[in-house]
Amino acid sequence: MSLPDGVQRRAIDGEEALATRGEPVYGEGTDGEWRRWDLRRSKLGAMLEMDVDTGLAGGETVLYLGAAAGTTVSHVADFAGPTYAVEFAARPARDLLDAAEPRGNLFPLLKDARKPETYAHVVEPVDVVVQDVATRGQARVALANRRFLRDDGRLLLSVKARSEDVTGDPDAVFDEVLDSLAEGYEVLSARGLEPFHDDHLAVVARPK
Ligand code: SAM
Repeated sequence: MSLPDGVQRRAIDGEEALATRGEPVYGEGTDGEWRRWDLRRSKLGAMLEMDVDTGLAGGETVLYLGAAAGTTVSHVADFAGPTYAVEFAARPARDLLDAAEPRGNLFPLLKDARKPETYAHVVEPVDVVVQDVATRGQARVALANRRFLRDDGRLLLSVKARSEDVTGDPDAVFDEVLDSLAEGYEVLSARGLEPFHDDHLAVVARPK
């Protein structure tokens, strides 16, 4: 599968790695303008590395839910078009603002992804929703934000089993999340993100 335009494999720090072009954000290695994408800190990076068919070609309009300090969303903004980054915790959001500073297409929103009505006036229709919110009710968050997704858009969802149920069997948790998602999405693929991220399921879906 091909990588999106703007994502390349490059030798950085003596190792072949995925990389995007932009200002460094989290102390990652660089090669000229290219910055290494640390797959152990990024579920989306791991999805690309594992050849998941994300449909990303580069240049898309993106709504990113659970942006934290901007590790992954900064890479996204390096290869995408307008990128809206939702994060509700004030502390990581400060670093997110720093990551956005040199990126004119990255728009941080200090908002709760469970309340899309609070940012609906800012966010335009998007080609892709990327979701990585470590919270209970991950399917509900994806369903609530479906309103922003174009009919031919994609949801790229990383489900963290332990956020739904700390002690539950991850496979049972994933089944429940997929069942709930079916209310608004057709699931195109679902697979675990080991060895990069344990007990995480990577889901690609499109709106029904
Ligand atoms: N996606 C980030 C990355 O790869 O750089 C890491 C995200 S971290 C695993 C999950 C984030 O989701 C946390 O920063 C947390 O504050 C945020 N989060 C959890 N619930 C949220 C909600 N309801 N609205 C917005 N952000 C939320």
